Amino acid sequence: ISVRLDSELVQFLAASEISVDLSEVRTWPKVVHDNPILLREQNVALLVPLNRQTTLLGWLAVSPENGRELITQNEMGYISALADQSLLGLERASVEFQLQERIAELDQLSNFSQFLAFTIDTEDLFELVFTNNQRLLDVDDFYIALKDVDTHKLYHAFYIEKDERIKAKEGVRQSVTNTHVHKAFQSGQVEKWIDSAQDAWIAAPLNVGAETLGAVYTVLRNTNNMIGPQRERLFLTYAQRTAVALERLQTNERLTQQAQRLQIINQVTFSLASTLELEPLLDLIMDKAIELFDAQAGSLLLSDQETGELVFEIVRGPAEAELLNTRLPIGTGIAGTAAQQSRSIITNDVSEDDRWYSELDEENQFRTRSILTVPLLRHNRVLGVVQVINKGSGALFDENDQRLLTAFASQAVVALENARLVEQTDQKLQTSVEELSMLQQLDRDLNTSLALDNVFNITLARLMTMIGGSAGAIVLKDFEGLPQIRTWRNYDRGFDATKVTPKMIENSPTGTVLTSGKPLIVDNVHEALGYHRARFETLSQLILPLNHQQEVIGTIVIESDEMAGFTKDEENTAVRIANHAAIAIANAVLYEQVKEANLAKSEFVSMVSHELKTPMTAVRGYVDLMLSGLMGDLTDQQKEYLEIVSANISRMGQQIQDLTDISRIETGRLHMEFKATDLRAVVDETMKSVLNLIDEKSIKLNVDMPANIPHIEADKGRLVQVMTNLLSNACKYSPENTAVTVRFSLGEQNSQAVVCGAVKDSGYGISEEDQEKLFTKFFRSDDPNIRKAKGTGLGLSITKGIIELHGGEMWFESTVGQGTTFFFSLPIEHRDEE
Ligand code: ADP
Repeated sequence: ISVRLDSELVQFLAASEISVDLSEVRTWPKVVHDNPILLREQNVALLVPLNRQTTLLGWLAVSPENGRELITQNEMGYISALADQSLLGLERASVEFQLQERIAELDQLSNFSQFLAFTIDTEDLFELVFTNNQRLLDVDDFYIALKDVDTHKLYHAFYIEKDERIKAKEGVRQSVTNTHVHKAFQSGQVEKWIDSAQDAWIAAPLNVGAETLGAVYTVLRNTNNMIGPQRERLFLTYAQRTAVALERLQTNERLTQQAQRLQIINQVTFSLASTLELEPLLDLIMDKAIELFDAQAGSLLLSDQETGELVFEIVRGPAEAELLNTRLPIGTGIAGTAAQQSRSIITNDVSEDDRWYSELDEENQFRTRSILTVPLLRHNRVLGVVQVINKGSGALFDENDQRLLTAFASQAVVALENARLVEQTDQKLQTSVEELSMLQQLDRDLNTSLALDNVFNITLARLMTMIGGSAGAIVLKDFEGLPQIRTWRNYDRGFDATKVTPKMIENSPTGTVLTSGKPLIVDNVHEALGYHRARFETLSQLILPLNHQQEVIGTIVIESDEMAGFTKDEENTAVRIANHAAIAIANAVLYEQVKEANLAKSEFVSMVSHELKTPMTAVRGYVDLMLSGLMGDLTDQQKEYLEIVSANISRMGQQIQDLTDISRIETGRLHMEFKATDLRAVVDETMKSVLNLIDEKSIKLNVDMPANIPHIEADKGRLVQVMTNLLSNACKYSPENTAVTVRFSLGEQNSQAVVCGAVKDSGYGISEEDQEKLFTKFFRSDDPNIRKAKGTGLGLSITKGIIELHGGEMWFESTVGQGTTFFFSLPIEHRDEE
């Protein structure tokens, strides 16, 4: 027979200090009436409560012997005394029992704790907690409910019913419906309740510090609807230990997950640094993003920079075939919205988001639950979008995930950026190479011509094709530093450069560049101050300075029919071309100036020689007249002086002749008369003029003129001049009593039949240093042996000029102290050179 602790009988007996006589039915207290089975059927006559202070340890129930109705007063006294004695024994036994139980309990608890400490797996932990509770409380229903990190609601992490694990009920979101369990979880206090089947339930919170991770709950059967304080305490203690272990495992799990994520990110970073190919990198990033969230699908979309559409670049999951390379118009779908608004979107229930396309799922028998969408941003520009679908184990995407995927997406941005840079560098390189070869071509073209007009034309044409100008002009400063339009292309037909004054140029944008020496882009000429219109269609200009030796020598203006027709890149290219052109232009200007100066000098020389000739001829006439004696006798002294005057006048005459000749050769105005010429006659005539010299120095002259030397087409007088110069040099620059040889032979030069002439002496020779300067105007050696003889230093230049005018060449061989040989070739037939 068991009696509930909370029954009235127990309360009544605990409160009564004396025995209760039940022999008189009438005197029974009400509670005894209410427990007829206990008392009447046992025929109890006396109830003796065993009270220790206020705690009822039990009671004695005494029934009289059969046939006896009553217990006597004596008997009652005896029994009471006996009860008092028993109380002591009972009390001791009770204390001992309690202690033993407590020890066993502690023992179990320490075992439990020990096991818990070694559990590293949540699954194992739950099993362990269950077995211990089973042993302790003999339960066969046991539940562990945990807080869902996303929703903060409870779900079943462990579900045992009738000793059987029901996995299907585990991990299901918001599956805990019992309000008592929620109350225990929310208050952090133990909850007890009786269900409709009169079973007693208990729920204990899983408390760690101030936090509650969830709750454990169970039902105790056969407890008489009662869970005593001791079991309650035990259950709570176990729950507390469980909570601590669980928290340790969860932390551990979190750390491991973090380490894994870090490792994944590291892998990607490493690949990023080691490969430049975009495709495999994006593949890797997508795969790792899916791994990161243990997701079921995902895609990477890149935005088409021209149309703004998103293109499915990489797709993982069942929709791959349909989606790959398809385009999403701007702002459509979840991805489109994320791209348009440059923000991440967490969609934890796609069915509630009408931007989501459900059709794909239906086709693929796939169930999209949640999507995390993150834009790929570079300097606020959207390069694309990354999406991961269905986070692992049904969990929800949260802000942490969003941050993680954003960080991850930035890796993709780096990959894209790298790829773009490589491509750009490639393109840049290509442009540079093109530009270089262009410049090379330009240099070649420019070098072939020193003529300023050519240089202008080449430069303008090149610049216009290179940077796409439709018209252009070159402005140069003249010798006074005043800018002038020197050449132009595609200007209006009526354009008249002479109407554009230096002042107008100086006040226009071109003037700005002339002063600053920096290129200038005029995006709209009609808004530019001082712009002078030369072409109706022109809307913008690129003005380039021509810098030469720290000086702005002019500008090149390139014009476009479009507003803002020139970019910074084009400007850079144009500047490089202009720099090359500037050198060529400066050279051409210089050449032009030299040419002009030469011309002026030649003109001056021919003018002077002409002016001198007349009075000199007069002087010579009078001197000759006097020397002839026709004007009266002369003293010997007078005769001697006049002869010196005459000789000097001859020399001056020769010098003037030389000067005239050289200036004529230089200006291409030396008159030549080509006729069939016999070289023998040339030699004979030469002899007349050099005979004196030969005799003076007792030179032995040999002439070798083979019979097969034909007549050649030549200017006989000029050839006499050549031979005279060479022969007189040979004599002049040789000691007395040496030999000079003149030799002619037939030969071929530049596939042309020529006669070769050679004048060989055994004289002083020419030093190597002097050899380099030979044939330059006015050159004379510093050798005193040479300086002894008089000369102008023009003879060889004239000689060479004459030979070349015949289409021949001149050269020499010489050794100091041994002698010199001058060679020349003369084509047998003369060809007019254009
Ligand atoms: P010039 O004879 O009036 O000085 P040339 O032009 O004929 O002028 O010669 C220039 C210089 O070349 C001479 O001054 C001399 O130094 C050198 N030269 C020319 N011919 C010879 C030669 N046959 N032997 C050595 N030196 C020579």
